[in-house]
Amino acid sequence: MSNSTAPSDHLSVSEQESLLSIRDFKGTYPKQIWYLFMVEMWERFCFYGMRGMLMVFMVTQLGLGDGQANLQYGSIQSFVYAFTFLGGILADRFLGFRKSLLWGSILMCIGGILMGMDPVNNFYLGICFNIIGSGFFKPNISTMVGQLYHENDSRRDAGFSLFYAGINIGAFLGGTIMILVAKNISWNAAFYLVAVAMCISLLVFLMTQKSFGSIGLSPLRHMPQEPRLGREALIYYISLLAIVPVWFMITDTRYTDRFMSIIGPLTLVYLAWEMRSLSKSENLRLGAAMLFILFSVIFWAFFEQSGGSLSQFALYNLQNQDFWGFTMDANAANNSANAFFVILFAPLLGMVWVGLSARRAEPNSILKFSMAFAMLGLAFILFYANRFFANPQGMASLEIFVLAYLVISVGELCLSPIGLSLMTKLSPLRMQGLMMGMWFLASAYGQYVAGLLGAGMSLSDQASTAQDKLMAYTSGYLQLGYYALAAALILALLNRPMKRMMQGIH
Ligand code: GLN
Repeated sequence: MSNSTAPSDHLSVSEQESLLSIRDFKGTYPKQIWYLFMVEMWERFCFYGMRGMLMVFMVTQLGLGDGQANLQYGSIQSFVYAFTFLGGILADRFLGFRKSLLWGSILMCIGGILMGMDPVNNFYLGICFNIIGSGFFKPNISTMVGQLYHENDSRRDAGFSLFYAGINIGAFLGGTIMILVAKNISWNAAFYLVAVAMCISLLVFLMTQKSFGSIGLSPLRHMPQEPRLGREALIYYISLLAIVPVWFMITDTRYTDRFMSIIGPLTLVYLAWEMRSLSKSENLRLGAAMLFILFSVIFWAFFEQSGGSLSQFALYNLQNQDFWGFTMDANAANNSANAFFVILFAPLLGMVWVGLSARRAEPNSILKFSMAFAMLGLAFILFYANRFFANPQGMASLEIFVLAYLVISVGELCLSPIGLSLMTKLSPLRMQGLMMGMWFLASAYGQYVAGLLGAGMSLSDQASTAQDKLMAYTSGYLQLGYYALAAALILALLNRPMKRMMQGIH
């Protein structure tokens, strides 16, 4: 049995005691999870707010064509997640989770200020700060959630679900508010909002970080101060220098292609290297984690059409519509429907899992992943079916569009929070940051492929009408629907062998 989240022997006695006192909490949730919930909520407010503006900004303010915008969107988003991989490793090895979080927040604040000052000219520079900042932030806050629990604490999944709700409250608010501010007030104001929200996130963390005891402290804290500070400063410095290559790669997406073709194989080699020193059962579990990660790439590649081609679909093929008495902006709907449904269904699904578990009928993580793909497939078939509800000008139905988001969101809940929790359960303690980074690196590949798929579906002909675009996108969505259903089937077939590899983890 691996002792993946058991107190480590690198901790001093008092550190171990503080860790145990956190993990021996009473009730459903440790109090610290509420702090991480708030910190992550504000960070996701920024992230999803920006994501919801990217496509519209690039097409309407930077004058990019649809295909090019899809490629740059995929590139930006994939770097956001690719850097989480590095952020995870650097935290494991040098900075610890807390310093990583702080540094990431500061970089993202700077990014927001730069873009607020001059959206058009500073756009790519600001985005680079955000990419690198979220690399330091995102994987490490998720790992900290996992560290609040003993290895076999059955309350861990509930904790991740709560945390996931925080993500989506932030996503919902950011996705709705920022695009509305951008369209109705100014792009400057919308980007300044990124900085303000990130400062709130940073303040909440600074005010609450004492309560985390030894969780997230630097792994080098026992080293003499001077070499330790030197190493940390070097990491901060190199991360700033990384802005230059990232800038090149997002402005010329051919470099992104090269980067993506190298980084994946390299990380696999690195993982294999790390696996040498582990026991057979630890390695089997890591193998299972890799399979989950592989499927998540496919999931995100389809799912992330949301910020890409579906964002264009909302711009060209949907009209603002009255929804229960108020006018809904189609892009705001595209940016927030998913988060809205996740918030709505997360507790319901939690209850379903608990109810099923009481009857010993809760599906395991593999079957939950399979269900996620079935929902994804269904949702894309609904996106496709929207062509039958369109008027002759190519304007489709916002209701069907939102309904498809409902289905996709239930699917996401069967995969994303489960995946986060699995990464912390299936990996040994000293590799948790790395594996969480791997999980997000899979999202990076997903985003990258999402951009390619979106560019493949979009029409390069400037003269294409809304009706042409409708047909092009919806045909693409039908294919994605079929592939997702096929993945659901394959996962169901893999249930037995993967269960064996997981060695008692569900
Ligand atoms: N919606 C989740 C989040 O923002 C998961 C995103 C992902 O891993 N692609 O954290």
